[in-house]
Parts: sequence; structure tokens; C-alpha cells
Amino acid sequence: MTTVITGTSSGIGAAVRAHFERVGDRVVGIDIMDAEIIADLSTGEGREAAIAGVKRRCGDGIDRLAACAGLGPDAQSPSLIASVNYFGMVDLLDGLFDLLRRGSDPAVVVISSNSAQMVSLYENPYVLALLEHNEAEARQLIEEAGDTALAYMGSKHAVARAVRRRAPMWGNAGVRLNAVAPGNTKTPMLQRCLDSAVGDAIRAVPIPVGRYAEPDEIAAVVAFLLSPEASFVHGAVYYADGGTDAQLRPDQF
Ligand code: NAD
Repeated sequence: MTTVITGTSSGIGAAVRAHFERVGDRVVGIDIMDAEIIADLSTGEGREAAIAGVKRRCGDGIDRLAACAGLGPDAQSPSLIASVNYFGMVDLLDGLFDLLRRGSDPAVVVISSNSAQMVSLYENPYVLALLEHNEAEARQLIEEAGDTALAYMGSKHAVARAVRRRAPMWGNAGVRLNAVAPGNTKTPMLQRCLDSAVGDAIRAVPIPVGRYAEPDEIAAVVAFLLSPEASFVHGAVYYADGGTDAQLRPDQF
């Protein structure tokens, strides 16, 4: 099996990588550092280089894709968060779609976040610009807002909707596509966030099971969704957050 994973140099992406290496897959990592394909997913050129790199290495097709690379709300620039977390994910999905169609029982997971539903974002102009694939407008709107938390939550909300919007076409093409929405997970990103201006807000988020996730626990959910055991799961946003979303929104799902 050939498995392409973004964000393999750290945190959840590194845990996903370790899982698929353990089961004997050929893993092709994409990251801004320490990966088979070094690419900056914040730019159009970087995304094109990443897609071209995968095509060069895996011309016969790819079987699984896990899009994990992302920036947290600790990042300095709201527009950079928009570019990496939304466009760096969906451009890669769309750019690798033809290779996925040629794979064996192909499946894709993108990493959203349980913060995607913590505030109402359905009609937010920044989120709508992301979904319209208008990178210039999305970047301008979120820079004007000057809010990295909104940049982050909006990018994760839009990425989940991008998955669901693609479900009909991708399902017809035989490629399963799902999102995982993790809660706080012990990675370098979470530590940076806890040490930053958003640290108190993160500490205030209730977690019914009373602890943060290990990266391996999120990787296990990603692995399940990419496996034949999840053969009828498609277009889902799968929460792995110790019950936070259920506590915050008990009557919505
Ligand atoms: P991390 O910082 O440990 O890892 C992120 C990875 O993305 C790194 O390897 C980094 O090099 C890569 N990356 C960042 N910018 C990039 C760019 N421009 N081009 C290419 N690669 C780039 O973070 P993590 O906690 O493992 O996060 C992984 C994913 O999970 C992210 O999408 C994040 O938003 C999401 N997430 C994390 C948590 C959490 O609590 N850790 C919770 C919910 C969602």
C-alpha cells in the first residue's frame, strides 16, 4: 500500500506515519522539513511542488492520504493559518484525486478540529471566502480581523465542510473521504498554544474524560478511517475529543 501523509515531521502526522510504517506501507511524507517531499503548503507553488513530487514517486496511484499538516492559533499570522490549514489541505486533496482513483480501495482523511464548531461559523465571511476558494479574499478578511483563533477555527470548520461537499463526487469515484476532529492532543503545537496568548482559553475547554489525547490515539482513528473496516464511512466528521463536543453541544450532531 502506498500512503501519503502531510505534516509527518511532528505530532499527529508523525504518529500517523509511525502507524503506517509499522504495518509495512510505503509512506511518502510531505512537510516543510524532514520529509520525503519538502514543500511549503502555505503557497500555491509549494502545493504544486508537493503534488508534482507525489506524482513523480507514485505515478501508479496512491491508496491512502492523510492530510495532517497545519498551524495552530499560536501562529503569528492569521492569513498564514488560512493558507496552510485550508488551501494547503484542499488543494492537495484535489490535486491528488486522480492518483487516488487509481489506488486500491482508496481513502482519505483530513484533520479538522473540535474547535470547528465552538462558535457559529456557518455564515462567517472568512469561512465563505475559504469555501469559495478565494485565497486572496480569505487572507485579507482574516488579516483585517487580526484574530488567529478565528483564523484557526474558521479554517478547520471550512475544511470539514469541504470534505462533506466533496462526498457525492468522491463517493461516486470510489474514493472515501472523511475528516477527524481531534480535541487537545499532546503535540508540540498544543504545547506552543498552551504557552501562548490563547493558553487560558484552551485550558478552559471542558474535557469529560479529564485529559488530553496522545497523538497515537488520534492516529488510531485516522488508521481506522483509512482501513477496509471503515468501508461504509464516507463524508463523516469523526470527533476524537474525549467528549468535549458532546458537552458543549449535547443536542446537536
Ligand atoms: P505539530 O505542530 O506538532 O505538527 C504540524 C506539522 O505540520 C509539522 O510537522 C509542521 O512542520 C507541518 N507544517 C506546518 N506548516 C507547514 C507548511 N507551511 N507546509 C508544510 N508543512 C507544514 O501539530 P499537531 O498538533 O500534530 O497538528 C496536526 C494537525 O492536527 C493540525 O492540522 C492541527 O490543526 C490539528 N489539530 C491538532 C490538535 C492538537 O491539540 N494538537 C487539535 C485539533 C486539531
